[in-house]
Amino acid sequence: MADTPAPAEVTMDNLVALAKRRGFVFQSSEIYGGLNGFFDYGPLGVELKKNIRDCWWNDMVRRRDDIVGIESSIIMHPKVWEASGHVAGFTDPLVDCKVSKQRFRADQLFFAPVVVDGKTVGYVSALESEKTTEDLQAAAETFKRKKAIQGTLAPVQPRDMTEAQPDEIALIPSPATGEPGSLTPPRAFNMMFETHVGPLRDSSSVAYLRPETAQGMFVDFKNVVDTGRVKLPFGIAQVGKSFRNEITPRNFIFRSREFEQMEMEYFIHEDADWKKAHDEWIEWCRQWLLSIGLPESHLSLYQHPKEKLSFYSKGTTDIMFKYPFGVQELWGIAARGNYDLTQHAQASGKPQEIFDEATKKKFVPHVIEPAVGTDRIFLAVLCAAYAEEDVKDEKGNVEKRTVLRLSPRIAPVKVAVLPLLKNKEQLVGRAKELYAKLKRKYAAFYDEAGAIGRRYRRQDEIGTPWCVTIDFDTIEKDGTFTLRDRDTMEQKRISEAELFALLDEKVY
Ligand code: ATP
Repeated sequence: MADTPAPAEVTMDNLVALAKRRGFVFQSSEIYGGLNGFFDYGPLGVELKKNIRDCWWNDMVRRRDDIVGIESSIIMHPKVWEASGHVAGFTDPLVDCKVSKQRFRADQLFFAPVVVDGKTVGYVSALESEKTTEDLQAAAETFKRKKAIQGTLAPVQPRDMTEAQPDEIALIPSPATGEPGSLTPPRAFNMMFETHVGPLRDSSSVAYLRPETAQGMFVDFKNVVDTGRVKLPFGIAQVGKSFRNEITPRNFIFRSREFEQMEMEYFIHEDADWKKAHDEWIEWCRQWLLSIGLPESHLSLYQHPKEKLSFYSKGTTDIMFKYPFGVQELWGIAARGNYDLTQHAQASGKPQEIFDEATKKKFVPHVIEPAVGTDRIFLAVLCAAYAEEDVKDEKGNVEKRTVLRLSPRIAPVKVAVLPLLKNKEQLVGRAKELYAKLKRKYAAFYDEAGAIGRRYRRQDEIGTPWCVTIDFDTIEKDGTFTLRDRDTMEQKRISEAELFALLDEKVY
């Protein structure tokens, strides 16, 4: 049994190291020095990601009668992005440092005046982190000391660069150089990746890699309505890659430039109670995250204040997750009114309406949009699952084990089959037979190399919920195996039928 595991501090360094060591996530193009904001998923990572995606698809689409799926193309007609507002408005505020040539997102670059005895004597800056205010306070103290200024330093009042007054910008030090004078005023930077379609490379051939999958659902709305048997309320779902030229990709796969989204547009009657539908979807998403093993303690809700919403939005709530680098958005659930369909109807000249049998009137449905990034769930799942603990081996010696407590629903390997000894033909034969049978339905793993304890540890580290060991009792007695549980490390005898029943119940 585990000795009251002291929950080890989950750091990003630990996670990134494990992800690399066990083949979950690699830097893209690593042999060429990597490409900032792009990642590759290795053999175990691709399984984990696929399981997250499949669980979402099964629960969101296949197990519901009111939602259908589509797969739209990544490059769409450029007019889609004009109508949606992305060409004009999909921007982040950008600040350049003219000396270091570094670029910062203005809303992530914080500054504060250094105020001594009520007088501003200079400025300090810091990049957003969990302790931005402390960093700025420490910088202000250093500033005062270095300049040998006497008097009482006021607590810093942080603001971000979007709030800087024009006369302040020249006085704020660049986080890259520590010196003022090199930062530019914030300007809007469009995050869509541009490309060209066809052999001509002029303005007429410009197209964009989609920055979200959602527009595919709006543009195909009529196709789905006219060809399917959908009736309001109904949803259209899609999973696929999206691309954003983020100014500062960071926190590993949390914010990257190429990522996967799982989005769903749930269309409701224009007179329907949107608030109720919105609340129901927030709760559905929360429950779904719990169902794949995220702990309730790490989840919270953030309701966007009215004044920060786009003019068409009725309300947006984000499900937040407590990552090691802070509480951050995991899943956004937005009530978007009928803005998108109306925009596309106007831009294309094709009505995007539905006929209401009851009132004999046509109308444009409203929509609730739960939008989440698969990679962000992947990271959340790793953060929540990772633990280092002291355990006793068979001889009572204390050793460290790293364990990923992944839900059986998403674990890359569901069960490992281990013959007790590799040089006993009967044990190996029976183990291989069971392994072949398991593999037809579940991701299983066969391992005969090394001491049994070491083999357990290897599976713990990749999150395999169960190991079955084929021993002499299996062959000589009742055919049962030892089932070892990853989390409790308890062992019990189990028959083949019971093993399949367990997997059937827990892996869905
Ligand atoms: P953020 O404020 O973090 O940039 P957002 O509000 O722009 O996110 P949405 O446009 O609502 O995000 O996208 C929906 C979901 O897609 C997000 O909740 C997140 O899970 C995921 N997502 C968005 N941008 C990225 C990114 N650069 N890398 C990974 N996932 C992302």
